[in-house]
Amino acid sequence: MSGPFLLGLSLAGRRVVAVGGGAVTARRVTDLLAEGAELEVVAPELVPGLRALVESGEVSWTPRRYAGAADLDGAFLVHTATGDPATDRRVAADAEARHTFCVNAGEAAAGSAQVPARADVATPTGDVRIAVHAGGDPRRAAGVRSSLVDHLTSGVVDLRSHRPHGGWVALVGAGPGEEQLLTRRATTLLAAADVVVTDRLVPQAVLARLPETTRVIDVGKQPLHHPVPQEEINRILVEEARRGRAVVRLKGGDPYVLGRGGEERAACEAAGVRVEVVPGITSAVSVPAAAGIPVTHRGVARGFTVVTGHEELPGLPTGTDHTLVVLMGIAGLRETAARLVAAGRPASCPVGVVESGWTAQQRVTLGTLADIAERAEQVGVASPAVVVVGDVVTLAHAWPAKGVGRGAVA
Ligand code: SAH
Repeated sequence: MSGPFLLGLSLAGRRVVAVGGGAVTARRVTDLLAEGAELEVVAPELVPGLRALVESGEVSWTPRRYAGAADLDGAFLVHTATGDPATDRRVAADAEARHTFCVNAGEAAAGSAQVPARADVATPTGDVRIAVHAGGDPRRAAGVRSSLVDHLTSGVVDLRSHRPHGGWVALVGAGPGEEQLLTRRATTLLAAADVVVTDRLVPQAVLARLPETTRVIDVGKQPLHHPVPQEEINRILVEEARRGRAVVRLKGGDPYVLGRGGEERAACEAAGVRVEVVPGITSAVSVPAAAGIPVTHRGVARGFTVVTGHEELPGLPTGTDHTLVVLMGIAGLRETAARLVAAGRPASCPVGVVESGWTAQQRVTLGTLADIAERAEQVGVASPAVVVVGDVVTLAHAWPAKGVGRGAVA
């Protein structure tokens, strides 16, 4: 076997002496500081990054050239990157004589210690740390390391912890319904979860990828019908976490956009349960996008408002250059359109209804405030759907004549 023995070092509170004040030292010093090491830099000059660390008191500095073995006093580890091979070799030899491991950045393979390509995949139950050494080829090691991170965060690797950890909850946005629109953090936490509490709008493909023994609790809500009351969902989250389980509460879109994520977080915090919130791609923006509708567009709309229900409609801007996005708006579509016209929006204002965005069932129905309710009824529009109101709707892929202000709905 060639190459170094890969070993984990606990550096917290331990002295490390770094000889040299250049960019390589700066990078390593930053990494070592993150591990809690106590850093002493020996160098006549420092690059700005190192100087800043000295000025902030995070690193101590001996402002001169390496003077000999006494500079290494008390070090558990030595790092040398002076740019001068002879000096680096001397530092390495002095460290060797004192039985102290030394990284020789100038001649990595010659050092008694070598730095592998490293990365952390963080979970609330502790980080998974990886270190790769690839026959002394740092580029190959870095490439392999990055591939491993991709693999570990892809959701296919079981990251559950088998040791007691006190439980946690993550409120995770699942995006609008397409697996690829999940965040990396979401897939990582799903792979670390013992229990997944899920919603109706969560992509099924995501659940299908979970390890077989991950428990899935479906608290999905149907429109106008709430099978599991919110208090009960809060109770499930808190109780599962208190039993020491890793809980992902997977929610459609973004947890904080009309998703009651704030309440679930508050319930966890009130119960003293560790909670993390992972944003998701909200349907309010991404479902219109799936139909080709940007919620803002230069010269067409400079802002947008996301609403549900009717109470807030009268107070909203009435210009067709302000986009309205209505969630959960299908049952009340006719009334919404009528109220917007009553509030001052022109009846000719374009409206798009996008059902099941980002899924194979996606369907787009276009019209104006005057006729959208009728058109929607004709084709039997159903939830989930996003209603978009404003001139931006004319940018939809399906709008009959392309170009703002041109063409009309046939
Ligand atoms: N937190 C979610 C919204 C929850 S409210 C988010 O950020 O996306 C539920 C409403 O979101 C539905 O009634 C519908 O209006 C909309 N919605 C969610 N996913 C959708 C999808 N794939 N297609 C169309 N509408 C969707």
